[in-house]
Amino acid sequence: MKLVTFNGDRVGFVVDDDVVDITDAVLGRCGPARHSLMRTLIAHWDELRDDVRGCQVRLPLSSVRLDPPIGDPTKIVAAPINYFDHQAEMNVNATVDALGFFLKAPSSIIGLSGTVQLPYLDRRFDQEGELAVVIGRRARCIAEEDVPDHLFGFTGLLDMTMRGGEDRSTRKSFETFTPIGPWIVTPDEIDDPDAIDLRCWVNGELRQEANTRDLVWGVRRFVAYASWVTTLEPGDVVTTGTPAGVGPVNAGDTIELELSGIGRLEVGVDDKNAVASLTQGHGRGPGSEFNVR
Ligand code: MN
Repeated sequence: MKLVTFNGDRVGFVVDDDVVDITDAVLGRCGPARHSLMRTLIAHWDELRDDVRGCQVRLPLSSVRLDPPIGDPTKIVAAPINYFDHQAEMNVNATVDALGFFLKAPSSIIGLSGTVQLPYLDRRFDQEGELAVVIGRRARCIAEEDVPDHLFGFTGLLDMTMRGGEDRSTRKSFETFTPIGPWIVTPDEIDDPDAIDLRCWVNGELRQEANTRDLVWGVRRFVAYASWVTTLEPGDVVTTGTPAGVGPVNAGDTIELELSGIGRLEVGVDDKNAVASLTQGHGRGPGSEFNVR
């Protein structure tokens, strides 16, 4: 099932070229939602999954605005260096097994209908195409083999990044710096999370091409590890890191990320309201070629 959030706070799933609207089924079962409808749906999925299959209201996909499938996770957990070829291009001597994870601000999320807004005129910003998972059942101190029981689904994620020496949580948390989508695909539609093809283009030029079998820590290991640090809540997003091929993006660019079995996420880039950098990190950080002003 491919689950979407659309037209504000409505939820549905995609069948062929239509969206089946399941908003009323979720509200009927769960009552007034304290969080987004998708987060509510995820938290009640065991009770809802049979209900929603009976929903009949269909809208053409082309007639709705697709929003980020999940817009209010309690946190976005992200892998810093999780492909060896990205480690090489960044010229750093550590991977996820030394660095652990970092957090991105949930307020940086946008969906298909959004645009990445570059905040500064004098800094370099790169695209990082990644496979992300959405947590289903709460996970705390779980074993790798139990991770599949705690996954709600899979989605694409662009971990937009300012290069330089500021902390990762700063460089990756600007508003609009986490495009997610186009939808959340439930695990029954994914043959093997460790064999997903990832491709990312900027202005139609292929920049990144990889397979998740090359992750240093795959989905199970990374999610299990994260659960020993923090409690992963339903709707939380865990993103697995980017392969080689990151590069600068500028106003007017289009970024496309495609994951096999999941789909294609496409967003534009703008620098409306950008100002001079408020921090001095451009001369610091790994790999001097990444410190272009
Ligand atoms: Mn990343």
